[in-house]
Amino acid sequence: MVTTLVLVSLPLLALTVLPAQQSLLQDVNQDTVRRAEQQESETAAAPNQLRTVILDAGHGGKDPGTHGRYVKEKTVNLALVLQLGRKIKKNHPNIRVIYTRSSDHFVDLYERGAIANRNRADLFISIHCNASPSSSQVYGTETYTLGLHKTQQNLDVARRENAVILQEKNYQQTYKGFNPNSPLATIMLANYQHAFIGSSINFAEKIERSFRRNADRKSNGVKQAGFIVLWKATMPSVLIESGYLTNPTEENYLRSEEGQDEISSAIYKAFAQYKEEIETSD
Ligand SMILES: [Zn+2]
Repeated sequence: MVTTLVLVSLPLLALTVLPAQQSLLQDVNQDTVRRAEQQESETAAAPNQLRTVILDAGHGGKDPGTHGRYVKEKTVNLALVLQLGRKIKKNHPNIRVIYTRSSDHFVDLYERGAIANRNRADLFISIHCNASPSSSQVYGTETYTLGLHKTQQNLDVARRENAVILQEKNYQQTYKGFNPNSPLATIMLANYQHAFIGSSINFAEKIERSFRRNADRKSNGVKQAGFIVLWKATMPSVLIESGYLTNPTEENYLRSEEGQDEISSAIYKAFAQYKEEIETSD
């Protein structure tokens, strides 16, 4: 848990949006427009086809993420992502499945979205595990889209997932003084995903429904918060918190073969449903 580190280390960074950050905003907004135009011309032949999906295993290498008694978050995330990728490939061999990491190594948050943009991905799925600092009783799944948090607990999740930028080289330059703790910065950040927010929420709802129906999980619902990893991705994007490693029962489930198979299957079913829906819509 490095939440306090962020609070202590970043207060002097921009509380509002710095000029450099504004120009960065404009750049990305232009990218979003370009991307939308590109999509329009590309999809003329095969409208709405989902061709490329990015699977992002949270954390990795020197960044273990959170942990339970036996297992580190980065390990569970990678196992889930690889299983999900195999299921997508098996059922849809024509879809390009691209991993931001396929082994235990560190990837900057910034780079993860950049990989998605470079490959002109149609969907970005980031997989994580949750932690409750106050109670080992808390359990269940949550799927996030980029947006303004409504509760302190949602903000805490984003802060924990964002804290890793402090371990990146040159993070102050890369993120142009972005302060994950500033509400205004979060609003600006949410603007980037504006064009994709409806699709992102639609997919997120399918994932949470699938967790309930197909894996008998307790769904804590679809939520919004300011996740840096979703910031630059110019396509529908979600971040899945697959369960709480701080809950011993859920940790055992998350690290078991059966649990990982159920979770990745539930996400796969939501993916297949989303793909079918967008490809058959006008
Ligand atoms: Zn995480």
